[in-house]
Amino acid sequence: MPDIAYVNGRFGPLAEAVVHVEDRGFQFGDGVYEVIRTYRGRPFEVEAHLARLERSAAALRLTWDRAPADWAKVVDEGLRLSRFPETKIYIQLTRGQAPRDHPFPAGIPPTTVLTFRELRPLDPAVRQAGVSAMTLDDVRWGRCDIKSLNLLGNVLARQRAKEAGAFEAILIRDGLVTEGSVSNVMVVRKGVLRTAPEGPKILSGVTRTLVLEVARKQGIQVQESYVSREELFEASEVLLTGTTVEILSVVRIDDRPIGDGVPGSVSKALMRGWESLIG
Ligand code: PMP
Repeated sequence: MPDIAYVNGRFGPLAEAVVHVEDRGFQFGDGVYEVIRTYRGRPFEVEAHLARLERSAAALRLTWDRAPADWAKVVDEGLRLSRFPETKIYIQLTRGQAPRDHPFPAGIPPTTVLTFRELRPLDPAVRQAGVSAMTLDDVRWGRCDIKSLNLLGNVLARQRAKEAGAFEAILIRDGLVTEGSVSNVMVVRKGVLRTAPEGPKILSGVTRTLVLEVARKQGIQVQESYVSREELFEASEVLLTGTTVEILSVVRIDDRPIGDGVPGSVSKALMRGWESLIG
């Protein structure tokens, strides 16, 4: 089955899906998006993702006349048509198509795109060994809580990481860890699981919220407070969370080992908890 796309109400092959060059998503990155994955063929945490999509859209004053439940129906329909073992679904909404001008155009409908592509899980050997990361200055804008189509800061950071042979870029603003270029960052220090608090400096991950819940249920102490650059390197464990990375141990940062240089006990406990959550 080929990858499929839904563009403004119509399903078709992804390879044939097109959006106009005057679309504001292309001209300005003027839009929002979500990524949803399936487990056992069923979309995971759809409500949480659609709620965040609504929040992101509201922050951009982007409106449309569809209820979140309608998107859930489109997701279900796309999954019925695509039939992959596991699927990665992108929902992208833009302010629509209009002659290029910065202010919002009046009375045009938003552009709505959903894509359905096969999700290939991360190599289990990589997950078992853990990954490396590099630290980079967080040069993104002041509203990282909005899941906007403008991802240049993230793109440039992930590219730098790739060129350095690292899996992820851990972003640092004013000496404090904010998040990764495609994930949230959690740190274990003295048995306490710490991660940056919600707010404009991070995208509050759906996975982040669930992992913190798993941790609390397991009796792990959780602290939503910023970790400094120095504390990051002194951590016994560092992990990434996100829809596609799930829970992933970081065992080296900037070529320095973290803890024992292998996934630690808290990370492993969280991964086991995660498996039972999705299973
Ligand atoms: N932060 C950033 C910058 C991301 O791109 C992502 C992935 N969407 C996350 C955090 C994790 O969010 P989620 O758990 O909802 O996938």
